[in-house]
Amino acid sequence: MTKVVTAPPIKTFDALLADGRVVQVRPIEPTDAARLVEFHEGLSRETKRLRFFAPHPHLSNAEVIRFTTVDHHDREALVALGDDELIGVARYDREAGSQEAEVAFVVADAWQGSGVASLLLEHLAARARTEGLTTFVADTLPENRKMQRVFSDSGLAPVRTWDLGVEHLVMRLHVSDDLVDRIAGREHISEARSVEHLMRPGSIAVIGAGGRPGTVGHEIVHRMLEAGFRGAIYPVNPKGDAVEGLTAFRSVAEVPGVIDLGIVAIAADKVAALVPDCAAKGARGLVVISGGFAEVGAEGADLQHELTAAARRHGMRIIGPNCVGIVNTDLSVRLDATFGAAKAVPGPIALASQSGAVGIAVLNAATRAGIGISSLISLGNKADVSGNDFLQYCEDDERTKVVLLYLESFGNPMKFARLTRRIGRVKPIVAVKSGRTAAGVKAASSHTAAMAANDAAVEVLLQHCGVVRVDTIDQLLDAALLLAHQPLPAGGRVAIVGNSGGPGIMGADACAGANLTLATISADCRHILESQLSASASTANPVDLLGDAAPSTYRAAITAVAQDPGVDALVVIHAPTLVANPGAIAAAIASAATNGKPVVAVIIGRDRGLLPDGEQPVPVFGSVEPAIAALGHAVTYATWRARPPDHHPSRGDIDLPAAREFVNQVLTTDPPGRWLDPEETSGLLASHRIPYLAGTRVVDIEAACAASRAVGYPVVLKVDGPDIVHKSDVGGVALGLRSAKAVAKAWNEMASAIGPKMTGALVQPMARPGVELIAGAVRDDSFGPLILFGMGGVTAELLGDRGVRVAPLSDVEASELVHSLRCAPLLTGYRGAQPVDVDAIADLLVRLSLLTRDVPEIRELDLNPVIASSDRVVAVDARVRVAPVVADRFASDTARQLSPPRPA
Ligand code: ADP
Ligand code: MG
Repeated sequence: MTKVVTAPPIKTFDALLADGRVVQVRPIEPTDAARLVEFHEGLSRETKRLRFFAPHPHLSNAEVIRFTTVDHHDREALVALGDDELIGVARYDREAGSQEAEVAFVVADAWQGSGVASLLLEHLAARARTEGLTTFVADTLPENRKMQRVFSDSGLAPVRTWDLGVEHLVMRLHVSDDLVDRIAGREHISEARSVEHLMRPGSIAVIGAGGRPGTVGHEIVHRMLEAGFRGAIYPVNPKGDAVEGLTAFRSVAEVPGVIDLGIVAIAADKVAALVPDCAAKGARGLVVISGGFAEVGAEGADLQHELTAAARRHGMRIIGPNCVGIVNTDLSVRLDATFGAAKAVPGPIALASQSGAVGIAVLNAATRAGIGISSLISLGNKADVSGNDFLQYCEDDERTKVVLLYLESFGNPMKFARLTRRIGRVKPIVAVKSGRTAAGVKAASSHTAAMAANDAAVEVLLQHCGVVRVDTIDQLLDAALLLAHQPLPAGGRVAIVGNSGGPGIMGADACAGANLTLATISADCRHILESQLSASASTANPVDLLGDAAPSTYRAAITAVAQDPGVDALVVIHAPTLVANPGAIAAAIASAATNGKPVVAVIIGRDRGLLPDGEQPVPVFGSVEPAIAALGHAVTYATWRARPPDHHPSRGDIDLPAAREFVNQVLTTDPPGRWLDPEETSGLLASHRIPYLAGTRVVDIEAACAASRAVGYPVVLKVDGPDIVHKSDVGGVALGLRSAKAVAKAWNEMASAIGPKMTGALVQPMARPGVELIAGAVRDDSFGPLILFGMGGVTAELLGDRGVRVAPLSDVEASELVHSLRCAPLLTGYRGAQPVDVDAIADLLVRLSLLTRDVPEIRELDLNPVIASSDRVVAVDARVRVAPVVADRFASDTARQLSPPRPA
């Protein structure tokens, strides 16, 4: 099949190299001819020889034309550009008519070893998969170790043979777990590095820092000096006025030596122009404090666009704009470039905030409570650096023990889900996600969209990824305090130990609201307590030590209760009395042995903070409720983390090119995207082996009867027409038809009931009776892809018995989802009924989730109902809507590797 391609199927996108530098990647164009010639001329003799197996000093005209003219199907070439210069090319050429292509690449000598080839190969393989190729082959000279390494590191698992002094490699293009891991690994390294460069600068120009205190630029320099920044600070202002005793410069160009990072606080319309100047000084990025960008409307959005475009051209990254700065308290860096009231103190907590005001508020409150910060990024408008980048950085930052996020939106929820699932296994992530009332919940035309499009979806996304969601900044800090300083609880059984009844009872009540249970103190433990406490003390939970409890009483009771195997965590309450010495009590609580179990202290009326002394400082709160809430969050997190790790779901029998083919067809319509017709729907589902009783589409009675005979009676006749949504509502479904006569009668009744909207019908076999379920997928721009599963049918809609999860689902998650329904007993054999094939349901859900991952253009997909019996699980009704997707800045998201989006 030769395919005429008018426009390249993917646009230019930014990509990160292993060292965090930004380059551009795009398909080659005929206009690249001059660039290509220059590139080739610039290659060393050795590089040319390794590429062409012979001295090849110049490209011939014919070669230039051939190399720059590709059809993006049988022949594709991707180029990498750094600072607008060609730095690498990778290409494939299909063996005529086959699914195999020869692959080759060459990288400019100065860029070899920086990951350009790996990057190009990764994307070229993704393109090849989309174009239906299954295999890459390559020939290399045996001494070309670099090239061989690129292939073996790629995850494409080359198989080698030798022939006449040439090494011959064969690589299958299917998506293996190893490939996904390697792509994610490369993505992590490059993204983490790119942020690290910004967080560990050796020299900083503060552009817009003037001599006058009280202005933002000036205050930032002041704070940087106060924090003892280890590198060089270059204030830049038009007059060259000294700032806080530092020599200033009139322009970036006048700054002597290298600038690693620019911090910018000047008028929005002047910011983009700084990019080339800073790049010329070696800067890897800018922190743009200035406002006046996308947050103020269309004009500002244009400026922001201009800024990111400039940064892109010069391989720079941007934090902000409209942000309040960054902090890295590492003693070898000591960078505090913010201008809030409080200085950051060093510690284990990292914070990224989309709102500057919230960032400053958290920093102030943290400093007040003695909570230490490892790093902070104020994300502002997230023109470039996002919460996902920050997570990548935090994963590697050894000083960070807990990650806090304040988010208003998800730029790339699927990637967020993927990263948090991985990072959350090592470091707790706590988030405030504001915007609980989701605006833009559109009147959705499919069941799934309507059910999933609300805040519950965000809840699911976060829960599913192990992200602890809290509502307020106070809760954010409370949870961080506990997670950073105490061990994780093994379960949710809480013992309350205190010197007063009231707070103990309030604590017991609060447990119920926080998903915690009040532990039952064991008889053994109560004996020990009885021997140590006065007779009127209560040894049941809450344990009441009485008002005059001495420090030694506290210590003994904590130690005893912590030994109880039925207790997972302790809340120790002290209501100050005139007879007690609060300092001594606090010291007793902090130093008591707790058998590796977490403890939180409540000293009524105190500010949030830490009780020192012990090996692990004990978080202290001024009242019971926040202490219990924090403990509840820790239990939620610990429970998630104790789950077996998710495996990348995969199925070897998926035909991705076929799926893409159906969707690509629909995307070329005008306007692009729509509901799929019955043939497209069944083709798409078949590509991922999702069981569906597709049926035969017919346009008249004769055909309907013929199809019925072929299908075998009894059959189902269903109306078809582009404008018909709920077929049975309009009398468009006739079940259990046992003869041609019955089929003809049903057809006539339908035709007269429905009229011209009926353009044909489907003839389906009858499914065996079973439980009716709904399985669906929806992709919303703010939530990402979600999988919905529940009981089908009318009563189920009333009961609202359904669960939502984030795609892709692992096998474990799919099975959990199936069993999470309240009606799950109906599936597993309620009251002697035949159990249905729950494994097959879980498999269907995994496949559905893979389809939504692989084909991001699927916006809504409904299988309603899926009929499940003991030996068969099959969808009998399916609806799918596709629409184009808009690309993210970095195409390194695994999902995009696997199926690059089409232009919107
Ligand atoms: P719609 O949802 O547009 O009204 P469906 O195709 O879902 O139409 O059919 C309505 C109902 O008819 C289903 O919920 C199911 O109970 C039943 N049904 C439809 N197709 C079949 C089939 N092939 N075998 C058995 N029952 C079916
Ligand atoms: Mg239906």
